[in-house]
Amino acid sequence: MTAPTAIRLYGTVPDSIVDGPGLRYAVFVQGCSHGCPGCHNPESQPAAGGVVRSIDEVVADIAANKLAQGVTISGGEPFEQAAACAQLARRCRALGLNVWTYSGYRYEQLEAGVPDEAVRALLDATDVLVDGPFVQSLHSHDLQWRGSRNQRLIDVPATRALGRVVLWETREYFPEKPPSW
Ligand code: SF4
Repeated sequence: MTAPTAIRLYGTVPDSIVDGPGLRYAVFVQGCSHGCPGCHNPESQPAAGGVVRSIDEVVADIAANKLAQGVTISGGEPFEQAAACAQLARRCRALGLNVWTYSGYRYEQLEAGVPDEAVRALLDATDVLVDGPFVQSLHSHDLQWRGSRNQRLIDVPATRALGRVVLWETREYFPEKPPSW
């Protein structure tokens, strides 16, 4: 697979606190064919819209952001630009950043598409996949990092290691009281 050098973006948010845990650099790709009623980003749906940017430039922006704890790739539909998103995700992980990827496809659909090298590469470079289309009747403001109840936060490395869907759980760190206290 020739590594792509460009990615079509709807936009970026360098300091998102709503697209996964911590402060994150969010990259919204342009183009999505799911057409979910009530879509939160309808302007991101046309495949020909947005702006084409070099992946080098996006990675440089991310590397220069010393506050971001992770990167979220959302959209739009990242798996409709799987090769470019995989390249971006791989390079973000090389910077030590965790990668969350949102998709309107369910994990099982993506796994079935894994013979496609680019789909596999993007799953390989994803720590957490937020999967499934937005379903308006299942929408709730109480949900964290997802728009509707059908969507799952999937721990991709654990899921692939065990061969069954493993949900991601917040790992909060509660330091123990030092013995001298
Ligand atoms: S998958 Fe996301 S971007 Fe695509 S139509 Fe559904 S809500 Fe909108």
